[in-house]
Amino acid sequence: MKLVKSLATLLTVGAVALTSTAVFAQDKGAIGIAMPTQSSLRWISDGNELKAALESKGYTVNLQYAEDDIPNQLAQVENMVTTGVKALVVASIDGTTLSSVLQQAADSDIPVIAYDRLIRDTGNVDYYTTFDNFQVGVLQANSILKGLGYPENAGPFNIELFGGSPDDNNAFFFYDGAMSVLQPLIDKGDLVVKSGQTGMQTVGTLRWDGAVAQARMDNLLSSTYSDGSRVDAVLSPYDGLSRGIISSLRGVGYGSADQPWPIISGQDAEAPSVKAIIAGEQYSTIYKDTRELARVTADLVDTILTGGTPEGLDTTTYNNGVKVVPSILLTPYEVDASNYQELVVDSGYLKAEDLQ
Ligand code: BGC
Repeated sequence: MKLVKSLATLLTVGAVALTSTAVFAQDKGAIGIAMPTQSSLRWISDGNELKAALESKGYTVNLQYAEDDIPNQLAQVENMVTTGVKALVVASIDGTTLSSVLQQAADSDIPVIAYDRLIRDTGNVDYYTTFDNFQVGVLQANSILKGLGYPENAGPFNIELFGGSPDDNNAFFFYDGAMSVLQPLIDKGDLVVKSGQTGMQTVGTLRWDGAVAQARMDNLLSSTYSDGSRVDAVLSPYDGLSRGIISSLRGVGYGSADQPWPIISGQDAEAPSVKAIIAGEQYSTIYKDTRELARVTADLVDTILTGGTPEGLDTTTYNNGVKVVPSILLTPYEVDASNYQELVVDSGYLKAEDLQ
């Protein structure tokens, strides 16, 4: 009996030892991932996908969200550096505020990848993985023209413009991309920004906050459209802002038979906004496959840490104020009522039941 028991114990200890050996052989070290906020679905899925992709390659992951609080993100990244992560992947809140902690990372030879949002004004960012952000804006603007039926419907159309957060480098790329299409038509008089409010200084929306966009739309409606004129289109760079804009418009009667919705753009293919597209409230969004972004980022981390040379880098587009950061740029797609099924549901990005 005693022998049987000790044999059993031996076997158990052996099994544990074997398991731990297997785990250690897999353990390639920790990767720090700093994400901006959980208030938007896209960042939650980015974090989950990236964590899973890195873990499947044998890394452990320290994933943190900063809830759009800059000092919080700074503290999180500092902590990752102190605990000796092998690499940092950072989707910044304000891409100019991380310089000192990234100097500490560089001093410890920790490679830094800017994830989706460029980190500006530092030489200590090694790579950037993102989508073609200028193209996002081009797609948003072309989608608005398609929704208006332009040029067959000649207009002139009243349009109001919204920008993203001025501390996010992407916001300028989205806006500039959109204006590369819209400005010539504004100059021609086919599109009219009736409020006269243009330029990122004026139309930017700090922290991508939907409530801020809603309040600005309220002001635009009362200051510019209370004379009986209507808003025909709204350039919105992000689904969360579009939802705020839609609430504001609903408040003054848009969305009825005699006051149809303006053509409103968006970005991220968030489930509530794809539902709004199906319901005819929002015209379109931009689908960026964040699963793909996570995958290429995890591959990049692994390539760097295993001494390989990353391939397929864009070395011209993204100057961060100190250097051109070698980038991987993925393709964004316009999604509207005609193609959401194929692009976002059939691809598995959203589940059909998320859209019920
Ligand atoms: C991202 C967008 C997102 C926005 C707000 C940008 O940096 O590229 O996909 O809509 O942040 O979260």
